[in-house]
Amino acid sequence: MNHALKSKNVLTPDGLKAAVVIIENGLIREVLDYTADSGIDTEDFGELVIMPALTDTHVHINEPGRTEWEGFETATKSAAAGGITMLTDMPLNSTPVTTNVNALKKKTEAAINKLYVDCGFYAGVIPGNSNELEGLIQNGVLGFKAFMIHSGIDDFPDVSEYDLRKALDVLKSMTDLPLLVHAELEDVPDSENGMKRAQYDECSFKSFVDTRPKEWENKAIELLIKLCREYDYHIHIVHLSSSDAIEMIRSAKQEGLKLTVETCPHYLYFSSEEIADKDTRFKCTPPIRDTVNREKLWDAVREGVIDFIVSDHSPCDPGLKCFDEGSFEKAWGGLSSLQLGLSIVWTAAKERGFTLENVSKLMSANTAAFIGLENKKGKIEKGFDADLVFFDPVKKFIVDESELFHRHKITPYSGRELCGVVNATYLRGKKIFENGKILSKPEGEIIFNHQDTKSPRNIFEI
Ligand SMILES: [Zn+2]
Repeated sequence: MNHALKSKNVLTPDGLKAAVVIIENGLIREVLDYTADSGIDTEDFGELVIMPALTDTHVHINEPGRTEWEGFETATKSAAAGGITMLTDMPLNSTPVTTNVNALKKKTEAAINKLYVDCGFYAGVIPGNSNELEGLIQNGVLGFKAFMIHSGIDDFPDVSEYDLRKALDVLKSMTDLPLLVHAELEDVPDSENGMKRAQYDECSFKSFVDTRPKEWENKAIELLIKLCREYDYHIHIVHLSSSDAIEMIRSAKQEGLKLTVETCPHYLYFSSEEIADKDTRFKCTPPIRDTVNREKLWDAVREGVIDFIVSDHSPCDPGLKCFDEGSFEKAWGGLSSLQLGLSIVWTAAKERGFTLENVSKLMSANTAAFIGLENKKGKIEKGFDADLVFFDPVKKFIVDESELFHRHKITPYSGRELCGVVNATYLRGKKIFENGKILSKPEGEIIFNHQDTKSPRNIFEI
C-alpha cells in the first residue's frame, strides 16, 4: 500500500527542494532527502514541481435544484483538473438553500457518489433561522454565510445588523466556526434608488461599477469589524474588492480581532478599464475595479492583510448572462473559473515577484486552515493527506473552453494566455487527473467539522 514519488522540486514547508515523498494508505508517511534510498518503488518526476493540492473554500456548486448551472460531478471534476482536492460549497443557489438541517441532508444526499474530490458545506444565516444553527453545527457544516445585501436569490434573504447579532449570540455560545459575510451595504435602499439608477447605461461596465461603489463595501466592513470586536468572534469577509477597506482591516488585525479576508483571482487579474461594454461574463458583485485598486489588493496580499485567494466560482445557465442584450443590470452575477485558479493566480503573482511558495500558502495552506484542516491538507508534511499537484510553472497555454470540465464552458478567461499547467492531481495518494483526463471514479469524501475535538483555528497564527 505504499509508494514513493521524487522530484528536484518538491514544495515542502521548508521551501522548494529536491525530495522523495513516501505515501502510505493515502497519507504522506515521510518526506526524505532526494538521495535517500526509500527501499520502495519510486516514480521520478524530474524537474516537475510537486506541490500541495489546493483547497478552494468558496464555490457555488448549485446542486440540488440548480444542477443545470453546475453540479457536484462537473464541479469536482473541474477541481481535480485544476489541482484542487477540497471544495467548500456555498449555501445558496441550490434549492433548497442550506439554511436548515433538512436542506443540509438533501445536499449531502445529492453529493453522494458524485464527488471526484473532497467537499464540505457551509450553511446560511438568514433572518429568522438562528434556531437552526445548532443543528447545522452538529451536522457538520464548516462555517456560516450571510449576505448584507440582496443575494440574487429570494429564498436566501439578506441580514440586518439585528439578524447578525442574533446569529452571533448563538454561534458564540457553541462553536468557533467562521461566519462568512458578503460585505456590501447599500447607501439608499434599491426602491428609493430608481431615479439614480435610471441615469445609468445598463450595458456600460463603467456604469455597472458605479452602481456598486466601494463605499458599500467599506460601510459593511466597518460594521463587521465592530461586531467582530464586540463578540470576539471569527468573522470572515468574502471576496474583498474595495482597496479602500484595506487600512481598516489592517488595523483590526493589528488589534488582534478574529477577522479574516479573502479575495478572488478576477479582482487580481482583470481591471475594469479592459472590460468591454455588454460583456456580462465579467459581472460579479462586488465588481472588478480599476488597475490602481487591483495593485493595492496585491499589496494587501503581499502584506498578509488578505489571508487567502479563492475562486468564488459561480456559474449559471448561459441564457441568464443576457449576452444578446448585454445588460449588466439584468445578467446573473458570477464568474466561472474554478479549474483555472492556480494558473490565473500564478500568472499574475509571478509578474509581481511572488514565489510558488507564496501562492501555495495563499491557495492551499491558508484555505485549509480556514476550515479546520490545518493538520490534514495544504502541506507536504508527514501525516497529511497525500493530496498533490504536479505543476509545470513555466509552460504557457491559451485557455480553451473545450478543455474545461465546468458544466458550462463560458469564462472571461477564454483565449487568455496563462502560465503554469496542472499535469496531474493526486487525492490521498491516488492519481485522479492527468494530462486532461479524469482517471478515477468519484472517490472524494464529504468533510464535516470536528466540533468534538474543537480543533484550533490556526488561521490567526499564519
Ligand atoms: Zn460567492
